[in-house]
Amino acid sequence: MADRRALVVGGGITGLTAALDLVGSFDHVELRESDDRTGGKLRTSAFGGVDDVDEGADAYLLRAPHASELATRVGLTDIVSPTGATASVWHDGLHDIPGGLVLGVPSKIRPFATSSLLSWRGKARAAIEPLLPARDHGDALGALVRYRFGDEVQDRLVDALVGSIYAADTDRWSLASVPQLAALAESHRSLLMAGRRRPAPPTAGGPIFGAPSTGMGGLARATAAAAVQLGVEIRTATSVADVVPDAGGWRVDGDRFDAVVLATPAAATAAMLHRAAPDAATALARIETADVIMVRMLVPDWPERLGGRSGYLVPKPDQRFVTAASFASQKWAHWQPTNGDQLLRVSLGRDGLPVLHLTDDEVTDTVTAEVGRHLDLDLQPTELSITRWAGAFPQYRPRHHDLVATAERALPSGLAIAGASYHGIGVPACVVSARTAVATVKQSTGTADGSLT
Ligand SMILES: Cc1cc2nc3c(=O)[nH]c(=O)nc-3n(C[C@H](O)[C@H](O)[C@H](O)COP(=O)(O)OP(=O)(O)OC[C@H]3O[C@@H](n4cnc5c(N)ncnc54)[C@H](O)[C@@H]3O)c2cc1C
Repeated sequence: MADRRALVVGGGITGLTAALDLVGSFDHVELRESDDRTGGKLRTSAFGGVDDVDEGADAYLLRAPHASELATRVGLTDIVSPTGATASVWHDGLHDIPGGLVLGVPSKIRPFATSSLLSWRGKARAAIEPLLPARDHGDALGALVRYRFGDEVQDRLVDALVGSIYAADTDRWSLASVPQLAALAESHRSLLMAGRRRPAPPTAGGPIFGAPSTGMGGLARATAAAAVQLGVEIRTATSVADVVPDAGGWRVDGDRFDAVVLATPAAATAAMLHRAAPDAATALARIETADVIMVRMLVPDWPERLGGRSGYLVPKPDQRFVTAASFASQKWAHWQPTNGDQLLRVSLGRDGLPVLHLTDDEVTDTVTAEVGRHLDLDLQPTELSITRWAGAFPQYRPRHHDLVATAERALPSGLAIAGASYHGIGVPACVVSARTAVATVKQSTGTADGSLT
């Protein structure tokens, strides 16, 4: 029998995981990545005298075990978690985030009632939530929360928290793609009552996030190294333009493969699929993205009054360009510049707030002015780096899952899509999506029993 050949396109964490999982079921597993490095949105580099500081993602959720399982599988044992410093919201000053929230939705009355973040009028509006009848919200998270709790809860809590995770405008965001909130909305007419009755999360008491001490870039590096060790051929600086049907398999830039996993962002995937699966390509081309800039900076003379905080989020009505700032040396014990400066990671931009037009000088001026104003500090960073993430976050608009289902149904056998654009943006979801795509192509190419292992 001829060699069974599998190709993965895209060398982010999804593609690297997929390549690892294809080994054993195919004689030849190859990964092609357009950039000159693998890792995609995971990138870690030295900054401010600290060896490994993330330029993008800095942690994965531990509640979903898939990223930590991957870390273990690729030999990473030194896993760190945030210090326990707490996040704040900026609204004319820093406010503690009240306890008992489910992604911004109140589930306990006392901490909410005593919070300084909301006005008495906002709290009174939220208090009538259990009395309101059910109403269809068309899968729009913002519409649901505005109706049930009012604008302050939506703007200062839910949009600030969920929006900052996904660079989203949650008035245009799918409720179904935030499973914890979708579950609340499904279980009870009142979100507040549903939140109060919700069982404690399984990780209660333990850390919620983890990361390799070498950063999230370290996870990508170790996954790539493990794949290479198992025989995967990784070709960087190799962009794939097209996937074309070829006698029961696929031809990609002149080479034939039995199975192809496209682990690229939806727009790139759509461009590759226009001949092999035009209906899937049309659906995927509709998935939009938001751009983000991440600025790392070293700030001397950090005031004691800001101790104990891990950073802050800026609600949409208060945003200019900065959407969040992490006090990274307070959030992570191992990110301590030798001279005692504070390391900050500041995010700019989201859906509806474009930032990629800003020059380096404009980014620098904007960040120092805005963060300085938020913190009432004359910020004079001693070191600063700027990372531009074009297409950083796919935007899961209402009915996103229908769009993805349409695309997946239109995919021919032996071809699968995976990655942050589809069933979850966080790294654990990317890992799951890689595994699902690999299982799909193994099934459709008759290699599901892993007989080559
Ligand atoms: C600033 C930022 C902060 C984040 N923070 C977190 C966090 O704290 N925790 C968390 O869990 N997640 C976080 N995320 C999300 C998470 O990092 C990403 O969703 C995830 O890394 C995406 O992985 P991926 O492999 O699906 O896609 P990508 O990383 O985008 O990889 C896709 C790869 O495909 C390549 N490619 C594209 N077109 C082609 C082509 N034609 N041919 C060949 N290759 C191609 C690209 O170069 C890229 O390397 C963050 C993301 C950003 C941007």
